[in-house]
Amino acid sequence: MDIDLRSTMDIQITALEWMPQDGRYVRYYPEAGIDVFMEQRPDGSIEVTPHEFHDEAMSIFDYPLSEVYHGDSEILLRLQEFYRRCWVLRLQDPFISLMITILTQNKTADSARRTFHRLQRRYKGIDVHKMACADKRELEELIRFSGPYKASYMIECSRQIEERWGGSLEWMRRAPTDEARRALLSLHGVGPKTADCVLLFSLGHSVVPVDTHICRVSQRLGLSMSMGDSEAAKRRVKEDLERGLKMPGMAHLLIINLGRDFCKALAPLHHICPVEELCPKRGVVRPERLV
Ligand code: SF4
Repeated sequence: MDIDLRSTMDIQITALEWMPQDGRYVRYYPEAGIDVFMEQRPDGSIEVTPHEFHDEAMSIFDYPLSEVYHGDSEILLRLQEFYRRCWVLRLQDPFISLMITILTQNKTADSARRTFHRLQRRYKGIDVHKMACADKRELEELIRFSGPYKASYMIECSRQIEERWGGSLEWMRRAPTDEARRALLSLHGVGPKTADCVLLFSLGHSVVPVDTHICRVSQRLGLSMSMGDSEAAKRRVKEDLERGLKMPGMAHLLIINLGRDFCKALAPLHHICPVEELCPKRGVVRPERLV
């Protein structure tokens, strides 16, 4: 397996079960009650410790981004070749995905990772029942760096999942996308982007979660003709990406990578960008930063 671990771990909700620590990634395995570490060596190979968790840990890598798009957009075809060493991770338990995505709301991915690791250790692996019964004060303290107000989201939406669907979101896997999305949006603390992340990263629905960054890069590339990052503009970007380009949801990871590495908000790096000659640079007003 040819994997760029940093890039893979940087761009998807699924990877947030792993927390960066001293150049490695660590995940708590509640069944065994231990931390498992993953590290990329200089020769590109991936080392897992303790070694007996190697196969299980490596099974999170599902398929490379080079297989994510089969349409005819030259830009996306170019990007998937450029990011071929970045991998899509295996779909995640939908409840875990929901909790992690709530932790990321208005916070950095790193803060969500640290908080999730703390929760996993404290509860010996979180699940819907443990969260529905959690002590609110204690939970507020445990998640204080990710927004203590989210304790009520996590407890209340866990209770709603227990009351409405017997504690499981699995039925949404087979439900029509619109129905599953409406059900997720009816939960306490769940907005459009959180719902789309759960649909895509754990339930296998091909939707594109749109935030400010996806909005900006898609507009500059001409993949969407909307302007700005208002809620209306985000809806238009989502529509353009999902329907206009017939882009599978996971292909939006190509755009996330491009935004993180080159198409930065204030000073885009046009001169080293892999799609520079294909890009119309729509709406770019500031000069690029030369490094
Ligand atoms: S060429 Fe510039 S504007 Fe276009 S995607 Fe690359 S960095 Fe962004």
